[in-house]
Amino acid sequence: MDIQAGQEKEHFDDQATAEHVKCLIIGSGPAGYTAAIYAARANLKPVLYKGLQPGGQLTTTTEVENFPGYPEGVSGPVMMEDLEKQAERFGTDVRWGMVTHADFSGTPFKVVVDDSHTVESDSVIIATGATARYLGLESEEKFKGSGVSACATCDGFFYRGKDVAIVGGGDSACEEALYLSVMCRKVYMIVRKDYLRASKILQKRVSETSNIEILFERNTKELHGDKVLEEAVLVKRMGQPDESEEVLKIDGFFLAIGHVPNSGIFKKYLETDETGYLKTMPGTTRTRIPGIFACGDVQDKIYRQAVTAAGSGCQAAMDAERYLSMK
Ligand code: NDP
Repeated sequence: MDIQAGQEKEHFDDQATAEHVKCLIIGSGPAGYTAAIYAARANLKPVLYKGLQPGGQLTTTTEVENFPGYPEGVSGPVMMEDLEKQAERFGTDVRWGMVTHADFSGTPFKVVVDDSHTVESDSVIIATGATARYLGLESEEKFKGSGVSACATCDGFFYRGKDVAIVGGGDSACEEALYLSVMCRKVYMIVRKDYLRASKILQKRVSETSNIEILFERNTKELHGDKVLEEAVLVKRMGQPDESEEVLKIDGFFLAIGHVPNSGIFKKYLETDETGYLKTMPGTTRTRIPGIFACGDVQDKIYRQAVTAAGSGCQAAMDAERYLSMK
């Protein structure tokens, strides 16, 4: 046994003490809970670990208005509590805990929770989501939910008729700037380089939209406001001899500087694309290992919506059920 393999094995209890389950779900966003609802109703007796951010990304959103079935909208945290209750109603064993290690080298699959407790499972549904990147400013934290958002599709509506800024120069930033331009008075794009990284077609659409203004070679230094966001302090041509500061009066500050899929502990066993998203077989939630399924944002960098995540969670549970019934 090599040293690294030996260290990895140390995390796992031996078979005699490990708990054994049929269906393990990792993650508690819309994908994980929907997988749990379907798996529980299919009598798979799922065990779900909530992870570091119980409820997932939606718990950082104020109001969700685009999830079908809530005509008046619903707050992100309330929606996640509802999903949890629904999963528990059919018998899902919802637990606090973070899966810290995985061993998918053979069946049953093994994971370690909170570096201490080993669970063996006949099938695993990975619904660990993705984490939006933020700039890392203290003031960004202060205004999360009152001016700062990493999801224009979720929160843009609250800035109707207002002036907003979006950071980033990729496809997401352009798409979200276009989305915001329909409802906001003015949309500034804050781009750190002197060009956009986005595809030509999106660049063209942005340049043809009269209320989008691109501020090239700008970095954000600070966000100011009393209770809600009022302005952003930008640094123009940072590090250059002619570096200068400017203040942008805005009501909303959006981030579109990428997401990091939470796939790190699975990479040793499962295929990922160049940005770390888990690969699944087209039209399914199957990964390269039979019995391991992936759903939600950890395998989706395009749609990233609560409703699409929930849909793929349903698929994962159905795929797991089919796999278990054929074992
Ligand atoms: P990208 O990684 O493509 O772009 C991120 C942008 O954010 C870049 O402009 C980058 O600047 C900027 N950025 C990163 N960190 C910082 C920072 N700290 N401060 C300021 N700016 C920063 O991410 P996207 O989410 O846009 O796209 C991810 C993938 O998904 C891409 O492959 C994209 O093509 C795809 N996608 C496709 C869509 C479509 O086809 N319709 C829609 C959305 C996404 P810099 O350029 O300087 O590095």
